[in-house]
Amino acid sequence: MYRTHTCGELRASHINTEVTLSGWVQKNRNKGFMVWIDLRDRYGITQLIFDEERTSKEIIEKAKTLGREFVIQVTGKVIERQAKNPKIPTGDIEILVSDLTILNKSKLPPFTIEDETDGGEDIRMKYRYLDIRRNPVKENLLFRHKVAMEIRNYLSKKEFIEVETPYLIKSTPEGARDFVVPSRMNEGQFYALPQSPQTFKQLLMVGGMDKYFQIVKCFRDEDLRADRQPEFTQIDCEMAFVEQEDILNIFEGMTRHLLKELKGVDVDKFPRITYDDAMRLYGNDKPDIRFGMQFGELNEVTQHKDFKVFNDAELVVGIAVPNGNKFTRKEIDKLIDWVKRPQVGALGMVYCRCNDDGTFKSSVDKFYDQEDLAKWAEVTGAKAGDLICVLSGDINKVRAQLSALRMELAERLGLRKPDEFAPLWVVDFPLLEWDEETERYHAMHHPFTAPKPEQIKLLETEPEKVKANAYDLVLNGNEIGGGSIRIHDKEIQAKMFNHLGFTPEEAKNQFGFLMDAFQYGAPPHGGIAFGFDRLVSILAGKETIRDFIAFPKNNSGRDIMIDAPANIDENQLTELNLKVEIKE
Ligand code: ASP
Repeated sequence: MYRTHTCGELRASHINTEVTLSGWVQKNRNKGFMVWIDLRDRYGITQLIFDEERTSKEIIEKAKTLGREFVIQVTGKVIERQAKNPKIPTGDIEILVSDLTILNKSKLPPFTIEDETDGGEDIRMKYRYLDIRRNPVKENLLFRHKVAMEIRNYLSKKEFIEVETPYLIKSTPEGARDFVVPSRMNEGQFYALPQSPQTFKQLLMVGGMDKYFQIVKCFRDEDLRADRQPEFTQIDCEMAFVEQEDILNIFEGMTRHLLKELKGVDVDKFPRITYDDAMRLYGNDKPDIRFGMQFGELNEVTQHKDFKVFNDAELVVGIAVPNGNKFTRKEIDKLIDWVKRPQVGALGMVYCRCNDDGTFKSSVDKFYDQEDLAKWAEVTGAKAGDLICVLSGDINKVRAQLSALRMELAERLGLRKPDEFAPLWVVDFPLLEWDEETERYHAMHHPFTAPKPEQIKLLETEPEKVKANAYDLVLNGNEIGGGSIRIHDKEIQAKMFNHLGFTPEEAKNQFGFLMDAFQYGAPPHGGIAFGFDRLVSILAGKETIRDFIAFPKNNSGRDIMIDAPANIDENQLTELNLKVEIKE
């Protein structure tokens, strides 16, 4: 038997017990006549003691040779520790070792296995298995497991069943590129890895499995943005005989349950906002509502004077920064530089100080008097002591720019508190989205999303106005879930494909199986999928999903530990009927 207890288990009540422990050497303090070793495993750290008076010479000499990360097994007696360590749960005791076996030696690790390590990100990723021995990473993985268990329990109790769907499939239209896998047995043909199990979960509904979920890997070949992973995990869900309201209720319940069980946080009914309002008030379809700073549209109160910049703009819009009047001129200039960075892209920023005595001082005093500025304050909700920041220009661009500024200011002012949770449903998304590049409409969610029934007729005349029964769940400014009620009628689905620019042949080719299935009694259905990695990281109060994935890819989509992607053998290429010309 390798161990009778773990390294996190022993307490004062175990004193005088004979135990066997196994683990890694965290620290070796050799005082000559005495040696202390901190022995670590997943469960904690236990101090071992070897001393000349009570330990055999052979064992104590062996103990002196132990390096960091050696794997050892010890047997000994639990004794009371002289100098107690209140910082660790095993701090009252130590093990007086009578027997020591070296199970394996270790090279000196390339970074310290401590909570605060000296290893940078790259080296830690290369030796991720060592990184996982560190508490912060280990705890993230344990937390992830806990979240998954809560989800499985919650949904199982509500009679959802977890069904696995295949990975070797055909393109799923979630808007990204597919990862493809060549088929050896079918020359010249390829599988695509699922961007989501979307079509399969709909087929499960046709199959009568009216409550499905799956914690499942999805694959999207997208240009990598910071903190995006090419393979990621979704909590994928679908239900039959439901309306939007039923889905929102079930998954609001699940999210509330997670917040309660994992964070001890009680959240009231989640607020809802329409997509249009979210864009108007926050410039963004995933607003962080932990703080205010709602947009105030200023066209009416700014376009009556000679200020050309505002007069020419499609939208003039501002936010009131709480207590922002304390910013110095220099700090405001820095903010202006910040919005002018190419990543944000504003041409400039107008501001107005709201003084404590009720007067205003703006950067455009030449054009606007106190009465005008009072109106700006009224529209943006600015109070004495605030700073109004105003951007102007093309409606979509300026909303995105002001939204970026709002988030940046909230960050700087400490308003994005990690221990505060503000969920929000965003509903009534547009069904379609115009794509400048291809000059056609794309499905904003995916092509199986149902338009609001009363608006189907608008599809012919004003397609951009049609709203969908589609919804997102937003938590602290992050989209954690999204879904829709689906089209379950073959005719409407065909019409939808047509609007998206598929010829009937293309539609049949790609989605014939789904259209066929819809002829055999498809029930009304809908669903949602949560980004599991992101959900876990937000629940933990962090924003990097990489820290919650055991073996993540880096920002270029590489696994630097196993060195993938990599070239494959000539023979493999031949077998797969693939000829690859490597560009120099
Ligand atoms: N398949 C969708 C997605 O991956 C979610 C859904 O509509 O249920 O975003």
